[in-house]
Amino acid sequence: MPGHPALFLDRDGNLIRDHHHTCREEQIELIPGVKSALEACLCAGYRLFVLTNQSGINRGIFTWVQYEACNRRMLELLELPAPGILEIKAAPERPDEPSLYRKPSPRFILEKIAEHGLDPARCWMTGDRVSDWEAGFNAGIRSCAVRSGAAKPEELLQAASRGFAVHDDFPAFVRAELKLIF
Ligand SMILES: [Mg+2]
Repeated sequence: MPGHPALFLDRDGNLIRDHHHTCREEQIELIPGVKSALEACLCAGYRLFVLTNQSGINRGIFTWVQYEACNRRMLELLELPAPGILEIKAAPERPDEPSLYRKPSPRFILEKIAEHGLDPARCWMTGDRVSDWEAGFNAGIRSCAVRSGAAKPEELLQAASRGFAVHDDFPAFVRAELKLIF
């Protein structure tokens, strides 16, 4: 029996505006259309996970408490119907530290595939940085690069040449690749 479909979502630049080390609640602003796009995904049976690199924590730029407050604010703005986002995983490692969950590590995605009986062929990772689409690739799922964040034009071109989907933003991805209407 095939497993469940799922989406692994980068947070900053994909669901909310990227303010570079976003750490204050008042900075949390949903990217337009993301709420309805996520609602459509939930209706279609996608399990939702967020995977976010937050090196600002281990760099000492902000604390876990500030990071959690930002997540709470995002969830408050999203107000998704149950089951909503099943888990938000942050990787606090700096790039120079040994990586546990820091993207492009596929570790979190692989753990969730096993734990939730997901179908890798119907799983996607979406995000605005090279590390996002490489994490999806490393986990053996599909990846989509979005233009709504920090990606440079040359990185998006490279993503396309690597065979990854490229869309303006998460809602455009949902319409084009998941064929959902909302
Ligand atoms: Mg990002």
